[in-house]
Amino acid sequence: MNMEEQNGSTGAGRREEAQPEEVCPGKKGKLDLEAAKARIAETKGPEFWRSLEELAGSEEFQQMMHREFPKGASEWLDSVSRRGFMKLMGASVALAGMTACTKQPLEPIVPYVKQPEEVIPGRPLFYATAFTFGGYATPLLVESHLFRPTKIEGNDKHPVSLGGTDVYAQASILEMYDPDRSQHIVHLGDFKSWSNFQHDLRGALDAQQSSHGAGIRILTGSFSSPALADQMHSFLAAYPAAKWHVYDAVSRDNVTAGAQMAFGKAVDAQYQLQNADVIVSLDADFLYAGFPGFTKYARDFARRRNPDAGSMSRLYVVESTPTSTGVKADHRLPVLASEVEPFARALASAVGAGASGGSLSGDQAKYLAALSRELQAHRGSSIVIAGPQQPAVVHALAHAINQQLGNVGKTVVYTDRVVATGEAGLLQDLVADMRGGKVQLLIIMGGNPVFNAPTDLNFADALKNTNIPFRVHLGLYQDETAELCHWHINEAHYLEAWGDTRAFDGTVSLVQPLIAPLYDGKSQYEFMASLLGQWQTSGHEVVQSYWQKQHPGADFEMFWRRSLHDGFIAGTAFAPVQVSAKTGGFPAASTSAAQGTEINLRPDPSIYDGCFANNGWLQELPKPLSKLTWDNCLWMGPAMAARMGIEKRDLVQVDFNGKSLKLPVWIQAGHPDNSVTVFFGYGRVRAGRVGTGTGFNVYPFRSTSVQWFGSGAKVTKVSGNYILASTQGYQTMDAGDESRPNVRTRTLDEYRKEPGFANADAPPPGLTLYPGYQWQYKNEPYEWGMTIDLNACVGCNNCIIACQSENNIAVVGKEQVNHGRHMHWLRVDAYYQGDRDNPRAYFQPVPCMQCENAPCELVCPVGATTHSTEGLNDMTYNRCVGTRYCSNNCPYKVRRFNFFLYTDWNTPQYKMMRNPDVTVRSRGVMEKCTYCVQRISEHRIDAERENRKIADTELQTACQQSCPANAIVFGNINDPNSQVTRLKKNQRNYGLLDDLNTRPRTTYLAEIRNPNPELEA
Ligand code: SF4
Repeated sequence: MNMEEQNGSTGAGRREEAQPEEVCPGKKGKLDLEAAKARIAETKGPEFWRSLEELAGSEEFQQMMHREFPKGASEWLDSVSRRGFMKLMGASVALAGMTACTKQPLEPIVPYVKQPEEVIPGRPLFYATAFTFGGYATPLLVESHLFRPTKIEGNDKHPVSLGGTDVYAQASILEMYDPDRSQHIVHLGDFKSWSNFQHDLRGALDAQQSSHGAGIRILTGSFSSPALADQMHSFLAAYPAAKWHVYDAVSRDNVTAGAQMAFGKAVDAQYQLQNADVIVSLDADFLYAGFPGFTKYARDFARRRNPDAGSMSRLYVVESTPTSTGVKADHRLPVLASEVEPFARALASAVGAGASGGSLSGDQAKYLAALSRELQAHRGSSIVIAGPQQPAVVHALAHAINQQLGNVGKTVVYTDRVVATGEAGLLQDLVADMRGGKVQLLIIMGGNPVFNAPTDLNFADALKNTNIPFRVHLGLYQDETAELCHWHINEAHYLEAWGDTRAFDGTVSLVQPLIAPLYDGKSQYEFMASLLGQWQTSGHEVVQSYWQKQHPGADFEMFWRRSLHDGFIAGTAFAPVQVSAKTGGFPAASTSAAQGTEINLRPDPSIYDGCFANNGWLQELPKPLSKLTWDNCLWMGPAMAARMGIEKRDLVQVDFNGKSLKLPVWIQAGHPDNSVTVFFGYGRVRAGRVGTGTGFNVYPFRSTSVQWFGSGAKVTKVSGNYILASTQGYQTMDAGDESRPNVRTRTLDEYRKEPGFANADAPPPGLTLYPGYQWQYKNEPYEWGMTIDLNACVGCNNCIIACQSENNIAVVGKEQVNHGRHMHWLRVDAYYQGDRDNPRAYFQPVPCMQCENAPCELVCPVGATTHSTEGLNDMTYNRCVGTRYCSNNCPYKVRRFNFFLYTDWNTPQYKMMRNPDVTVRSRGVMEKCTYCVQRISEHRIDAERENRKIADTELQTACQQSCPANAIVFGNINDPNSQVTRLKKNQRNYGLLDDLNTRPRTTYLAEIRNPNPELEA
């Protein structure tokens, strides 16, 4: 199978010729942006839309809404689609062949002489460990079935994690089992052994002894590991002329420089959102994964958004590209990225924190006036947070404002820096040394600078053409950087290795392996030990001996075991430091006028900087706002698109920073005018079978001076278009009566006046044509139900990946997604309301509603979907014959059908990864959310054995457990005291499409906004 076949029709050379398939709104017909605008103007009362096509009321959209699957989805003999998903099967086919040809060694299988304590087949164990991302830890509990890690959960005992995770941590288990991970040590294309490498390394190090290591350079990403930092310092002490450099494609350099500018010292800020009445984001997407502290911030934010428990906070977001945080804003101000600094200056000036005011437009000045009054009125209970893509001065101004408002110590505290890489040099200095012939031994530990370094550095050329005699790459993949190094060492995954790492508050977590390295990889600790001449030292010895030095007492063993068990070392959080921000003397504002269109450069919300490009779960995860999968694109606002006569999927040529690229367009409601956003991370050429060739590489637009945004981009419409597989508009539910929309929302004042607005005209309980035939749940021990709080949900998508991991949900590939055949059991719909240029937006997670009067059950000809005595809408896969009547009759469109054999049954690694408690489905069956029935069964068996009932909150569904915002609550609604029962009695509780009398067991808590009356008027 060649690459074009594997990619369907999306090979790079064929992009412009790609013909859109007529399957979905937005993929067919002309989108009339002016009609959308006119429709908004005519709108009276609340009206919600999921796509601009819906807003424009296009004929295609009307057709789509009345189909369960998009047009074409039910065509079975579709050779193009078949090829598309076969790409994903490539790994399994290759590996199946490999195993078939390889004679497995004969090994005796003997029973245990002594059964290991607590290892019982069928009973998982949980181990505490931590995932490190961008240098910061996400503390975890990992489920292990007979020493195979199968599911990631957050560590609920950790002081800052509190049990939440993010999409990257959840999906990291798929990365560990990825058959495309590097499996060998490679030297100039040949497989070699670790001892071969150590022999050559010893020679290279010996040659550096006389110069004290003057020719040695080490390049790493940011890390916070105390033990690794200790090793690095030992190495630099042994080779004092050697140099260490740090590079992260998604760097926090501006954050650090801003603190340095404000305090004269680099410190980290920790925000206490639970104490804040007014929160201001200056281009900071702190409610999405990747922002250090995200899981805690999401939970603390959600806690203060409950209109029924104390005062609600108010969120102002000034942002240059639409984000999840902007969706949650009570007041969102779209601005150019370059306008955030003048706004921050004006805000600082208005609250008396120095800085001369920046010039603002009329709308911006109005917004600023109301905001500054609000901040002045909430001294000590407000926060201003700046985003990492904004320049240092914006961070310094945010620190000055917080200090001026008396917020320090109340809503924001400062600590020493968590990352341990403060003294390392920059990438540009390394490249200068490489080009200057000063480097003889270059060690690249993690990262992929050949792919993601600033384009002006031309790192690939510096690596290839500067005659560095010994170049080593340690990494999880044989990627673009590995290709240009003499040696590539396959790295052990964090789930296979020992380590330590710090959370954003400084608390240290020990990283313990869940499994022996699948491919005999080496960790960074083992690699550094070899650099230190400790040739046989294991990662475990490195980490344990470091902590033995920190905790030398006789109780070390107890300390070590307790820390491993708990997942963190108690008392290691950083204490706040006292710093004083300057409130004047900021650098003068730039006077040069912006030219042309402004361009924002952002990491992709799914595959980040490209490091997760080979992760099928993340590739297929609909991005929070566009719902795009498997691709990146260029975002522009509706006004700019209308001016340029551009439609979604059209190709444009972008000229910026001396580079020219053709990119497909996505018209994103709420995007600022005269500005576009591109997302980097795609366009990999050596990612692996899943990620290679997907999307477009926009890194060439980035340079050392333009990392995040710049003006002067030229955007020109060119001929051709490109297929974008977005799930936006799929599974659209017909609310019918617009007075009962799918998302129900009011302002806080309106809610107080009319608290029962959400369910005022819900059908009366017990409405039925067949009285006396209802099941009497009160006679059963359990009746399951769920609530989802729209106020709390931040749209982070974590529940989708958690559900996918728990329930062995297959990845189907871009072509199949484009046919509407994606298999997610849970989706997070994004709704918009009002002005297309700055709409309000809402997230709504939609799993199976587990209806009491389930329309699906009545139409199944073989009784494959039936009702349980505990109220679950069960699915019996073995009975399903694939008529899909149930799906057609589901008003919520939550049933997913296996049109093909999507599940990879052959790849040995994936067999190890699957949850053994959940059926692995084959072709031709309907599947859907089960409320994690396997978890219910496990707890029911435990409770029966112990002669008790399942306690409230003892049992959590996978989506609930992963949710950092605690938006999902599941439990027994037969228990009058359960959390879910109490929430279902809440005045905000309503059922989706409940006028159909389906009696959904999953209900929603309506979203309440807390706008400033001054701005709302
Ligand atoms: S419900 Fe899902 S999308 Fe919403 S905050 Fe929780 S995990 Fe994120």
